[in-house]
Amino acid sequence: MTSPTTFEFNQIGIIHSCYTEKFGIPRQPGLVKETTATLELLPPFNREDTLDGLEGFSHIWVHFIFHQCIQEKWKAKVRPPRLGGKAKMGVFATRATHRPNPIGLSVIKIGKIHKHNKRIFIDLHGADLLDGTPVIDIKPYLPYADIQADACGGFAPEKSPAFPVKFTEEAKQQAITYKNKFERNLLPLIEQVIEQDPRPSYLSNTTDRQHGVKLWNSNVKWLAKNDHFLVTEIEIEE
Ligand code: SAM
Repeated sequence: MTSPTTFEFNQIGIIHSCYTEKFGIPRQPGLVKETTATLELLPPFNREDTLDGLEGFSHIWVHFIFHQCIQEKWKAKVRPPRLGGKAKMGVFATRATHRPNPIGLSVIKIGKIHKHNKRIFIDLHGADLLDGTPVIDIKPYLPYADIQADACGGFAPEKSPAFPVKFTEEAKQQAITYKNKFERNLLPLIEQVIEQDPRPSYLSNTTDRQHGVKLWNSNVKWLAKNDHFLVTEIEIEE
């Protein structure tokens, strides 16, 4: 029998994203279109010539490290949130973050490639990545090879339905104050993040319990009502 080998990888980049903590990050890329993030190339890979030709592609595969899970142990069977936390599936049949190797893979829409003071950034749209995520590789998404017309989605055949999200007048005012100060329109981002129902499965049937999600430098508080989620406060963290 062949013995397993250990490999070492170089970090080629880092993610700067609106998600400053794990709670609330969409469970897959492309679900929250309002997500803004950038991928910054790090030395010695921060060379423009490494990206020659990428401008013709709309999406890339981002290979990254689940760096906030490195210390935690993996298990052979996990409870996918998609199944309400009730059923267990094999770790390799899921995209769980706790894996034998903490490697993640997301297909992400790209925007502008830009440079600031010799730093090189690729704009990302709809990323499911935590701020500070280390990137180990990027590759172009090839529609002719990567789109699979006969693909089946197993126990996750389609995306989960979105929950209606409402805002109190106070929260709407706070979003305006935030926009005037930081030039970011938080409302569509908050709506798309919360409508995914980021609550852990064991809380998914509770009502009137307060939850908080951190987006950029804001702390968004919301309540789960019977038939909608209500955003009650957008606190700015200075
Ligand atoms: N699309 C990727 C994949 O299939 O490998 C990620 C799927 S994983 C279910 C998505 C979750 O990973 C997010 O909801 C977030 O909680 C978590 N996550 C994102 N970046 C992370 C990081 N750097 N460290 C640990 N967890 C992270």
